[in-house]
Amino acid sequence: MTTSSESHGVFRASRYNLCIPTEGGALLYNTLRGGVLQGDGTRSRDSMRTLAQPDVVVSEDAVPPDHLLALVEGGFLVPDGTDEIAVVKERYDRARDQAPIALTVTTTMDCNLGCYYCYEERTNDRLTITEDLEPLVNLAREKLRRAGKRFLHVDWYGGEPLLNQEFMEAASAGIQAMCRDEGVTYQASIISNGTRWPSDVAGFIRRHRVAEVQVTFDGMQANHDKRRHYRAGHRRPEDRSSFEVLVSLVDQLLECVQVDLRLNIDDGNAADFVELVHFARKRGWFERAFPVEIHPARLSKYSERSAFMRKVELTPEEFASVRRDIEDAVPETAPVQVQDPFKPDGFSGPRTTVCAALATDSAVVGADRNVYRCGLQVGDTKRAVGAVARKHRLPVLGADRDDGAFWEGFDPTTMPRCRHCTFLPLCWSGCPKAHLEGDEQAIREHGDYWRANLPHLVAADVGLTLPPDLAFSPSEQFKEGEPVPFGSTTA
Ligand code: SF4
Ligand code: SF4
Repeated sequence: MTTSSESHGVFRASRYNLCIPTEGGALLYNTLRGGVLQGDGTRSRDSMRTLAQPDVVVSEDAVPPDHLLALVEGGFLVPDGTDEIAVVKERYDRARDQAPIALTVTTTMDCNLGCYYCYEERTNDRLTITEDLEPLVNLAREKLRRAGKRFLHVDWYGGEPLLNQEFMEAASAGIQAMCRDEGVTYQASIISNGTRWPSDVAGFIRRHRVAEVQVTFDGMQANHDKRRHYRAGHRRPEDRSSFEVLVSLVDQLLECVQVDLRLNIDDGNAADFVELVHFARKRGWFERAFPVEIHPARLSKYSERSAFMRKVELTPEEFASVRRDIEDAVPETAPVQVQDPFKPDGFSGPRTTVCAALATDSAVVGADRNVYRCGLQVGDTKRAVGAVARKHRLPVLGADRDDGAFWEGFDPTTMPRCRHCTFLPLCWSGCPKAHLEGDEQAIREHGDYWRANLPHLVAADVGLTLPPDLAFSPSEQFKEGEPVPFGSTTA
């Protein structure tokens, strides 16, 4: 391959090319376009390696026309002068603007369970019909009108949202009525500990137009009941163990709604989850009207308030191994698969969606009447970016910290490290909250994840299996060398 820039048609190898050696050949993968080329033999492998180097210039007449076409169409070669980072930025901005409006409503900060890892402060804050119903409906209406969007998703959240069912009933009816008036489609989801549901589960799901319920298991019964125990004074005489109540709720839910089974995993319960999947199989949860979806989650430091979790976190490698075991235990015929926490929809190539915290028109309403961007910040008043009602409006924050401006301006393509990262189109800097909090370990783990997993995800897409320890190197992630050390919010 020539590297002349004097020819009339001059191309550059994309900065997002990566070469993956295979038995007898190689794959060339482009993180910006998601294309894969498969080559056999040493010559192909050498060419692909060259195209994955930085600053490779290729003249049109140096490559056979059909090869050139394939390379250009797959985004492996781009016309000289193409600003590929601008393409990432454009895609990211579009994703933020076009994201559906999601309104997360924290009905109460109270919870009847005392999970040891819970980072939320359980307070008496709760939304009330008299004070908060109207401002909440107005907030939703304003957002819909301003954005001109025709769909609203409400996520009921807490604490335990069903501990304030009175407000949820009224707010759900009020918001649905507003949506009907505005000609807007409405849908809801709920994140619940599963212990305080009404007896008519199907009626509740229908009435609130719930399309998705997320509940959590912390292992088999002994571990689950110990970790998700009732708080003192919060267990009613009729309450069975939190495990038993949840199992019987899931039994009922799977007849009427999608259930995401979150599995909270750390080093104290990791051994339970294969058994839990077998338990789910025995109960027929994978063959119901709505087959259950499994979401393994690595318990980790969710926020500045849960730094104590660092001691019990699994390493990303340990977690990946538990996740693989869970995946193997799920029936092959099940129409759902274990989901990958870094790629919520499975490996689908370059990223096209943002988390709700970055969606331009979304918001999280706290039970303290503050508005937040990320659900994991609820109750952490110093992270609030506004208030539900004018009368609760926050004082203007000091010039040294303005979270509103951080969220508005968050741009992966300007982050000093991410800007130079080959995984940028897949990662978009990962979790923005980790950048806001300067959580260097969480940020580094994104890079660790992609280096270890991306070659295998790409190979699996074309039906190949690679040696388990094959990984991309830091110099493939940062082709021009590691840019700058991590530092506070600019990693
Ligand atoms: S900011 Fe991070 S924790 Fe919050 S919703 Fe986005 S990805 Fe999740
Ligand atoms: S967070 Fe890490 S892996 Fe993700 S884009 Fe930034 S540098 Fe790359």
